[in-house]
Amino acid sequence: MVEEQIRARGVCDARILAAMREVPRHLFVPRDRWTEAYEDRPLPTAWGQTISQPYIVARMLELAELEPGQRVLEIGTGSGYQTALLSRLVREVCSVERIHALLEEARERLAVQGATDVRLLEADGTLGWREFAPYDRVVVAAAAPRVPEALKDQLGDRGILVIPVGGAAIQRLEVWRRTPVGGWQCSRHGECRFVPLLGRDAWREEQHPSQN
Ligand code: SAH
Repeated sequence: MVEEQIRARGVCDARILAAMREVPRHLFVPRDRWTEAYEDRPLPTAWGQTISQPYIVARMLELAELEPGQRVLEIGTGSGYQTALLSRLVREVCSVERIHALLEEARERLAVQGATDVRLLEADGTLGWREFAPYDRVVVAAAAPRVPEALKDQLGDRGILVIPVGGAAIQRLEVWRRTPVGGWQCSRHGECRFVPLLGRDAWREEQHPSQN
């Protein structure tokens, strides 16, 4: 998985590659999908959600420019796979998931992995997690129509926010950087396809095509 899907496509951060070799991805997918866990695509999990394609996870982590001392806010814990990777790459991970059952499963998996310094919250992640702000990085693992304001507010000086932004069918990975003079710099990267970010400052459940 790491050599053919990730390094071959240009992600070469040694720490990210090492973390992806170490975290057993099959333990984050349903048991009847174990044989597919290392394939080059997203896989369905419970509650109509997905565990993202390994390459996209690696790409987002690379775009976030992670460093060991950082505190990271993750929106969309899902299976907990990306959370487990983050916990190996930074000092502290705060992760928010709106679906109770997914969060509890992720909690168990992360405990099995011995992931420390991970905090999990069941809530609407479009509002961020004010208690532990500011964050050095924010990584959003669900597709948003625009960047939720609270996530920008809770990003610290020189912080970086990585988020898929676009319509229901296709999005682009966007990187938002808080500049030293108090402005923002945005760059756009490859196309991607995530499940919707549903919440107060994103898609309303009743409005999103996938929910009907
Ligand atoms: N990183 C995860 C990706 C999960 S898919 C993995 O690799 O497994 C995206 C997740 O975002 C889903 O679990 C979905 O329930 C969650 N989500 C969607 N909108 C949300 C919101 N407003 N707040 C928190 N989580 C949300």
